Amino acid sequence: MPIERKLQQIQQQISQACARGNRSIKDVHIVAVTKSVTVERTQEAILAGLHHLGENRPEGLLAKQAEIKTPVIWHYIGSLQTRKVKQVINTVQVLHSLDRMSLADEIQKRATQKIDCFIQVNVSGEEAKHGIEPQNVQPFIESLSDHHQIRIIGLMTMAPNTSDEQVIRSVFKSLKDMQVHIASKGYTHAPCTELSMGMSNDFEIAIEEGATYVRIGTALVGDESEDLT
Ligand SMILES: *Cc1c(COP(=O)(O)O)cnc(C)c1O
Repeated sequence: MPIERKLQQIQQQISQACARGNRSIKDVHIVAVTKSVTVERTQEAILAGLHHLGENRPEGLLAKQAEIKTPVIWHYIGSLQTRKVKQVINTVQVLHSLDRMSLADEIQKRATQKIDCFIQVNVSGEEAKHGIEPQNVQPFIESLSDHHQIRIIGLMTMAPNTSDEQVIRSVFKSLKDMQVHIASKGYTHAPCTELSMGMSNDFEIAIEEGATYVRIGTALVGDESEDLT
């Protein structure tokens, strides 16, 4: 299906979720996750009007940036190895996966201008998930005040691997509570007004619970296998 049609469907789902959550649609941004599709499919996404693009590997990101000349906002959404920071940090506008001090130190060292970052939080406590533990979020943010190249714009999480909607919703709710708490502190380096949560299978729940950035791949641009048929 053309991306334009999928986007229309998703926008309708987003506006319904906004209505249910008593949210304004202009506060919800779609990050089109293009990590599994070709440059051509990515160009199609841009033509459809998507201008926030998400990648999770340095190789995929740089390969697309080499071809795509339209100005878009690049989001790095995957876990980032410290040794890969210098390759990507000055090519993206937003990092969704800041989760440790060694990464923050390396960003501080390599970034040539301030970068907007989300702190990735492991709300669900699943072993396999990246992200810092909820009780460490505030101390971590406080300890970043001298990292002048880093602006903490919000919190990010991945929902647990379950189809239980109540479990997913409670994870999003707790991230929202954390975000509101941090924002209330008034840290100048960490306004923390944004919430990056929700993917293809759970973005409607995420929006009802306060997401301001949803990261949508499969439901929007499909994956490579679909691209090739
Ligand atoms: C792949 C990925 C997404 C998009 O997942 P879909 O289920 O395809 O929408 C979102 N966030 C992160 C961090 C990802 O790695």
